[in-house]
Amino acid sequence: MAMSTITHDRTILDTLNGMDAEELLQWAGEHHGAQAGIVTSFQNTGCVMIDMASRATPGLRVLTVDTWRLHEETYSFIEEIEERYQISVERYEPYPKSVHRMIQQHGEFLFFDSKAKQEYCCHIRKVEPNRRALATLDVWITGLRKDQSDTRQETPKVSLTQQDGRSLLKLCPLAEWSEEDVWAYIHEHNVPYNRLYDKGYTSIGCIICTTPTKPGEDKRAGRWRWFNSLEQSNKECGIHNGGSGI
Ligand code: SF4
Repeated sequence: MAMSTITHDRTILDTLNGMDAEELLQWAGEHHGAQAGIVTSFQNTGCVMIDMASRATPGLRVLTVDTWRLHEETYSFIEEIEERYQISVERYEPYPKSVHRMIQQHGEFLFFDSKAKQEYCCHIRKVEPNRRALATLDVWITGLRKDQSDTRQETPKVSLTQQDGRSLLKLCPLAEWSEEDVWAYIHEHNVPYNRLYDKGYTSIGCIICTTPTKPGEDKRAGRWRWFNSLEQSNKECGIHNGGSGI
C-alpha cells in the first residue's frame, strides 16, 4: 500500500498537542482512517489506547510485530483482546530467510554475545517487520511514555518522523501519563492486561530478553538484563531510535 508523504504545519501540530489521549485517537481515525493505526506490543499502554479507540473511533487499525519469540502469555493475550474488542490484530513477522540466515551465522541466542548482535536480532525480528507495518500508515500511534525510562523522557506527544524517505505523523497519546495513570485507567475501565505484569514484569517483549524487575529498578531494567552493567546500556530495540544492528 503506497502512502502519501504527510505534511502538517505548525498550527495543526500545536492543535494536536493540546488534545488529550482520546481526542488524539479520534482525530487520527476521523482524519486518516485506514492510514492511521495503533502499533503495539500489547503492553499496558497499548491496551488503554485500544480501549479508548473502541469508543472514540471504532475500527481504528491495530498492528503488532510478532518476533516469533513472544511469551505464551502474550500470544494468548492478543487473542483475548481480539475477542473482547471484536478486532482483528494485524501481525507483521520477520522474513523467514533473514531469521534462518541470522541463526546459521550467529546462533539462535546471539543476543547474549554482544550489544551489536542483540541489535542485529532486534533489527531482523522487530525493526524490519515494524518498518513494513509503518509503510501502510500515515499516522503511527504508539504507547511510548516519558516515565518509562531515562531515554524516553523527551518523548513528544506529537511529532513528525522520517521513515524510509517519507514523513510520518507519530502520536504518543499517553506520553505524559504516569504509570499510575495507566493502571488507574485499566482498573476503572476493566481493561484486560497481559498477566505477565502480575508476575513482576514492568516491560514486555521477547521471551529470554525480557525478565521481571525488582522494586526501584528502571521499568526497562528487565530488558537484556545481562547488559545492565554496561556504562551506557541503551534499552531500545531500534524501533523508536533508528537502530540498525550489525
Ligand atoms: Fe531478538 Fe531479543 Fe530483540 Fe527479541 S528482544 S528481537 S529475541 S534480541
